[in-house]
Amino acid sequence: MIECTACRHDNPDGSGFCEGCGAALHDPKKAAREADEVEAEFMLDQARKGRSAFFVIGSLQLLAAGIEATMVPDGLGVFALIAGVILAGLFFLLAWWCGRQPFIASILGLFLFAGLHVLAAFNDPSTIYKGIIVKGIVIMMLVRAVKAGFAHREFVRSRGMG
Ligand SMILES: [Zn+2]
Repeated sequence: MIECTACRHDNPDGSGFCEGCGAALHDPKKAAREADEVEAEFMLDQARKGRSAFFVIGSLQLLAAGIEATMVPDGLGVFALIAGVILAGLFFLLAWWCGRQPFIASILGLFLFAGLHVLAAFNDPSTIYKGIIVKGIVIMMLVRAVKAGFAHREFVRSRGMG
């Protein structure tokens, strides 16, 4: 029931206007639900920001593959190029997936990105410092996206919107 503030008439839930006097009614439940939807959409937008991180990684990966292909001896250069393009494609795929399932895509991408760099560091410790600022920014963006995705998931569940 929504009580009209003007004439005290009780109106059924969900009414927009008072049956008694025609005044516009304020439905607190509806207002709360709308506020929840706005909040959830905002969280989802934050979570989708991982997309830009994946685009940056994918593009850098392509660039690196191109450079590497010209530096590695003949024959091996082709392999370096193919491997680099596949990896870049993987990150572009993650960027696309991030628009649909930002939470899971960001977690997977974070592990993939961190894993690749740990492997590279084992192979050649000097790679740790290569592009460390970009790496730091990308990891920060992904961690934020994962956090936002988690917050969105919890929020939607707690409000029974899922
Ligand atoms: Zn009224």
